[in-house]
Amino acid sequence: MTTSHYIAGRWVDGQGSDCISVNDPALGQPFAELMAASAEQVDQAVAAARAALPAWKCTSASERAAYLRGFAEQLGQRREALVALQMRNNGKPRHEAEIDLDDAIATFGYYAELAEQLPGQNRDVPLAAPGFTARTRLEPVGVVGLIVPWNFPLVTSAWKLAPALAAGCTVVLKPSEVTPLCELAYGQIADTLGLPAGVLNIVNGKAETGAALSNHNGLDKLSFTGSNNVGSQVMRSAAAQCRPVTLELGGKSAILVFDDCDVDAAVQWIVAGICWNAGQMCSATSRLLVQDGIADALLPRLQAALENLRVGSPLSEEADMGPLTSQAQWLKVAGYFATAREEGLQCLIGGKVLDRGGWFVSPTLYADVPEGSRLWNEEIFGPVLCARRFASEQQAIAEANDSRFGLVATVCTTDLARAERVADALEVGHVWINSVQAVFVETSWGGTKGSGIGRELGPWGLSGYQSVKHVTRCLG
Ligand code: NAD
Repeated sequence: MTTSHYIAGRWVDGQGSDCISVNDPALGQPFAELMAASAEQVDQAVAAARAALPAWKCTSASERAAYLRGFAEQLGQRREALVALQMRNNGKPRHEAEIDLDDAIATFGYYAELAEQLPGQNRDVPLAAPGFTARTRLEPVGVVGLIVPWNFPLVTSAWKLAPALAAGCTVVLKPSEVTPLCELAYGQIADTLGLPAGVLNIVNGKAETGAALSNHNGLDKLSFTGSNNVGSQVMRSAAAQCRPVTLELGGKSAILVFDDCDVDAAVQWIVAGICWNAGQMCSATSRLLVQDGIADALLPRLQAALENLRVGSPLSEEADMGPLTSQAQWLKVAGYFATAREEGLQCLIGGKVLDRGGWFVSPTLYADVPEGSRLWNEEIFGPVLCARRFASEQQAIAEANDSRFGLVATVCTTDLARAERVADALEVGHVWINSVQAVFVETSWGGTKGSGIGRELGPWGLSGYQSVKHVTRCLG
């Protein structure tokens, strides 16, 4: 049994009723287990964060920046163990696990720099009215709850934890029950750095533990990343208490390929957009919109590229794509394969689970999918791509925007004026032009419509944990 909760600067065993199995998806077998935190332990974590807040929010920005740099450095020192854990528990091939770790390191480094710039943002406000002065003060929101999913455990947590600590908030982090071990590294690092007790608390558990945190009346804000179904429950809890909430939810993003595009380059961007992390990305570009003039050349090349993708154990250096991370996700994707058969979709490649012991599926491409199809409209969270053809730029934009989600999109064209025009017209939070999904800490992350509320990363990520105060003085 793994000791798996970090509360008030101490490691404690779970006292909840749920036993959590931690699985190796390549084998479909558990390799560790732990007991979930009880509701009382969530109380203790929130109380510890509350007690730590007055001192932590008064630390200087440079002190907080030093801790954040410490997190970045210590993540680097734990590199091999964390890469190995993500490979084993998430099923990520080594190169993907390494990129995740580098992203988390870059995030802590970036918010260390932003923390150092904070004092300069507390500044005088020029007023038109005579006889008054005013100044802005950016204060921490307070005690924040952070609930995260399993698909990029180190990264999603870093995107919340680093700006929250930089702003001067204290936190209670609840990782996903599917990947409960990765984020324990943040507790171990807090210990190593001597972060004051209670500034960072980590409670592991399933829905019950998450609900105990999101319903807790001791929080000043909750930041959630996960499914729309749970996000909606989290938002209801926040509404009940009139409390701010940030939501990073699902997606059904489009990749638009125009006639003038280089076919090989387009294939590379399409495959990366749907097969990275075995398609388990909120930002997966799972709807391919391809222009009539290039479709007949592109689809066979895409089919061949997906066929040649090597699916295998993340421990094998040969593997381009690993298994799905959980059995639940594997069954969900298998369910969509069955729906596709019922709907009579034209499957060019894949469409089946692989009989290899673990939770593997084949990269899948459906062509000429009707716009009413469930597979065209619902988030699948696997390497399952649906394609439709379009005639005009206007039609492509309209079809891309015809979704209840609005997370990201990719535009592929050599006509850069058109690329920029289309990017501006897409109702999403982030657009890539002629690129794989490169994510930079300086740019924002988050979506429109059903993909969420608020933004992470960049200065917007920091402001999500800040409260704006003005002090106005009458000179008379
Ligand atoms: P999920 O919603 O099932 O779980 C997310 C977290 O919420 C987990 O920690 C879980 O234990 C917790 N939880 C479950 N029930 C809860 C409840 N009733 N109250 C409070 N917390 C509860 O999502 P998942 O399956 O872990 O992740 C996949 C989803 O996350 C996908 O929809 C994906 O698009 C989304 N996601 C979004 C982003 C983004 O940035 N927009 C990033 C990654 C994943």
